[in-house]
Amino acid sequence: MTKNTDLQGRRGVDILHEPLLNKGTSFTEAERDALGLRGLLPPKVTTQAQQVERTLGNVRRKATDLDRYTYLISLQERNSALFYRVVMDNLNEMMPIIYTPTVGLACQKYALIFRRPQGLFISSQDRGRIKEILRNWPRPDIRMIVVTDGERILGLGDLGSCGMGIPVGKLSLYTACAGIPPSQCLPVMLDVGTNNQALRDDPLYIGLAQERLRGPAYDELVDEFVNSVQEVFPKACIQFEDFGNTNAFRLLHKYRDTVCTFNDDIQGTAGVTLAGLYGTLRLTGGKLTDKKFLFLGAGEAGVGICDLIVTGLMAEGLSQAEARERCWLVDSKGLVVKSRTDLAEHKLPYAHDHAPMPDLRAAVEALKPTALIGVSGMPQTFTEHVVRAMGRLNERPVIFALSNPTSKAECTAEQAYTWTDGRAIFASGSPFPPFTLNGGTHLTGQGNNSYIFPGVGLGVIASESMHVTDEMFFVAAKTLATMVKEEDLAAGSVYPDLQRIREVSATIATAVAEVVFTRKLTKMPRPQDIAAHVQAQMYQPEYDEYVKP
Ligand code: NAD
Repeated sequence: MTKNTDLQGRRGVDILHEPLLNKGTSFTEAERDALGLRGLLPPKVTTQAQQVERTLGNVRRKATDLDRYTYLISLQERNSALFYRVVMDNLNEMMPIIYTPTVGLACQKYALIFRRPQGLFISSQDRGRIKEILRNWPRPDIRMIVVTDGERILGLGDLGSCGMGIPVGKLSLYTACAGIPPSQCLPVMLDVGTNNQALRDDPLYIGLAQERLRGPAYDELVDEFVNSVQEVFPKACIQFEDFGNTNAFRLLHKYRDTVCTFNDDIQGTAGVTLAGLYGTLRLTGGKLTDKKFLFLGAGEAGVGICDLIVTGLMAEGLSQAEARERCWLVDSKGLVVKSRTDLAEHKLPYAHDHAPMPDLRAAVEALKPTALIGVSGMPQTFTEHVVRAMGRLNERPVIFALSNPTSKAECTAEQAYTWTDGRAIFASGSPFPPFTLNGGTHLTGQGNNSYIFPGVGLGVIASESMHVTDEMFFVAAKTLATMVKEEDLAAGSVYPDLQRIREVSATIATAVAEVVFTRKLTKMPRPQDIAAHVQAQMYQPEYDEYVKP
């Protein structure tokens, strides 16, 4: 599938100003004559490959990653196919720029680098007219919406309207990693104010400089948004992204059985982590049921991962109660245990009968976990003592420092390998460069949900599913785990090479669509060949030929 959109009668600069149509200097002589482009472009016609070469040179010459981000985003706003060609062919280099960690920095500076709208800003002052706003979006066939209210951007906290960089970045990954056409993607910022005082005091802040909306007024706004989407974009899946955890869990439970929606921080993270854990079993031997998991962080990611591990353990024969006993959480107040009276509802299933433990160090010594998973947003909390203890307790300690961006990682790759004499099986949320210890080089697998959500999204869209279920994330995790090659594991990574992400996403999408048809979650007839059907939906960043030469 290469066709992006029809010209719809457009000519001249109107074509150059539409990123889904623009080919820049690649418009042919015949197109320049027929479409009124003559004179608007320099005379030499270049190929897309030449444009890619020029772009890569420009990106690499920039002084900082934030400069590279700004350059790439302005390219995306100008020429969508060229942007995706560059990103897709150079994923290992470009992902850290268009997504974590650089996107975090970009959000912190969003007010300064904002140029053109790449999505919709809907504020709490827009009550009663959200449908109208959705109709202002120039593309009618929206299939994937990523919406945030900016309350918990990566591990950076409340960034209000500046959090828009995240839906924009996530949707770029839907296209780059799974081929969901850019014309079908819509980033949305639901601006309900911010409790970040520094932003509110900043005269250049781009959002509502007021306290966050809470309570029924907040719920009514979200409700109007969700209902309006059903009417204006009835085939769209809504992905909730980077909401504060109280709202995230509530909204997921409220909408999951009525509309097509999921929360990537809860469910996508769970999928990628479970896949990584299956990968570790290929190195440590044993079964998931033999292992004990200790989490630092008991929020969306931590509890979401626990829930999916429980699904995995139950698939291997444990009861729910037995499965939950394998999962332990430490939050900012210490070990999550039954006797605590301060626990939020989402933590209760994992509040076990145990003496209180003040911190992670005590919990590791007492529980002797086989895997330690960091999803706290608190950097350097996997201290030397904690990591060495994991190394003492396990031949191959599993240490996943998943907090994003890099500055928030619980420990670095270097620390994890050094403190365990290279025995750790380590994964991180944001990328770390390869690390050499005693002559051996360790590749760090990136336990980032970008291995999961693009494929799940593609499967859901391709099958026109009415809902997104936990089973789909379980199937996605199992599928991802099977795609890890022996050479990935031998190099130290429990994830496949990112460069294979399109193949990975297409395989996950096929497995997800299979669930959709088997569970009858769609009105669409089952295609004869689901894999071929999925492949046929995938966007390729090739230029359309508007005029035959
Ligand atoms: P959240 O706000 O829902 O949860 C954070 C949790 O950490 C809370 O339970 C909090 O009590 C706990 N915490 C805070 N300070 C702590 C401390 N000093 N010690 C122990 N626990 C502490 O956030 P979330 O959505 O769960 O995300 C948490 C982190 O995980 C973020 O940095 C995010 O970027 C990262 N994350 C990574 C991925 C990935 O793909 N790698 C996916 C989702 C989230």
